[in-house]
Amino acid sequence: MQPQEAAQDNTNVFESTASQSTTRTTRHSLLSCSLRDLEALMAEFGQPSFRAKQIQSWVWDKGVTSFDDMTNLPKALRSSLAEQCMLRSASEAANLHSADGSRKYLLRYTDGASVECVGMPSGQRLTACVSTQAGCAMGCAFCATGASGLTRSLKAAEMVEQVLHVRDDFGTRVTSVVMMGQGEPFVNYDETLAALRMLNDPAALGIGARHLTVSTCGVIPMITRFSKEPEQFTLAVSLHSAVQRTRDILMPGVKRWSLLRLYDAMGEYADRTGRRPTYEYALIKGVNDTDEELAYLCDFCRDTLCHVNLIQLNPISGSHLEPSPRQRAIDFARRLESVGVETTIRNSRGADIDAACGQLRQRIR
Ligand code: SAH
Ligand code: SF4
Repeated sequence: MQPQEAAQDNTNVFESTASQSTTRTTRHSLLSCSLRDLEALMAEFGQPSFRAKQIQSWVWDKGVTSFDDMTNLPKALRSSLAEQCMLRSASEAANLHSADGSRKYLLRYTDGASVECVGMPSGQRLTACVSTQAGCAMGCAFCATGASGLTRSLKAAEMVEQVLHVRDDFGTRVTSVVMMGQGEPFVNYDETLAALRMLNDPAALGIGARHLTVSTCGVIPMITRFSKEPEQFTLAVSLHSAVQRTRDILMPGVKRWSLLRLYDAMGEYADRTGRRPTYEYALIKGVNDTDEELAYLCDFCRDTLCHVNLIQLNPISGSHLEPSPRQRAIDFARRLESVGVETTIRNSRGADIDAACGQLRQRIR
């Protein structure tokens, strides 16, 4: 149950959430509390409702990490909050700076699970790349995260905390978030959506829905569900091949959903939302960069509302897969553009700091 729903039911939001949680913690994180949740909590504590706004301001505007710092709250309330709730739950296990300005962090939660997140500045903008799971069960052949399997899914608050971590380290506002770190967001749908809503909430981080992007490897039922959400969140789908047999080898976790079904689901998505989804395509030498693959990709994308992001594979240790040469990316882009498909060649950020998702975590255990 989402905290918001619990509050509407007039039940105790903190008990209901705690009873669902695992052995990790029974304290509820304020990073996933809406104003309504906080007002319900204040009512339980016998406090006036304006305290909820005060707490929100400490959590989001001032970014405090201790309840003791909430100096305009009565001491007894601060103690009750410290007993029953929490603010941050991760410690920084690594912080690597790239020559291109991006910074990659390894965050460790109290149960020992660790995830990567990245801050990528560009002019006045700062993008946070966030993980939705510690590890991933989908097993993509080119992905360092896939190689190490799933540890566990993250709670919404743990995703939001990654964004706060980036904000605090750069000392500036995060203007967009991409759920493109470790994990498959659409097998952790409810928590991912709850995190997106907190990031979007004007009283929390207030990041515009169009600047909040979710990337999925193609979990079709959840693409359909996502298309029905009221917010204008942005969708990216990892395609990596429009040839069924190639995609089955590269992305065994989505084998059960054929490319035909993906094509239909994306058509429905575009019709329903009017928004342009992105396909991610990592070019792998001799695997998905052949002329035949290009022809299939053009057919898959032609006359649909989509944008293709081409990237040269980030090589990962222990894998025989190699990136295609730059020229191949240029050839792909030209051909896609020639059949009317919007295409961008993306440069990998932070190549000097283990850019490929999951590499840092693999190295620092
Ligand atoms: N699980 C989701 C989101 C996390 S992966 C998904 O698969 O979409 C984020 C992006 O990084 C995906 O597009 C994924 O395919 C890509 N990726 C993973 N490993 C990569 C590598 N070695 N080189 C280039 N892109 C990679
Ligand atoms: Fe999981 Fe995405 Fe990596 Fe595939 S690419 S293993 S879905 S994180």
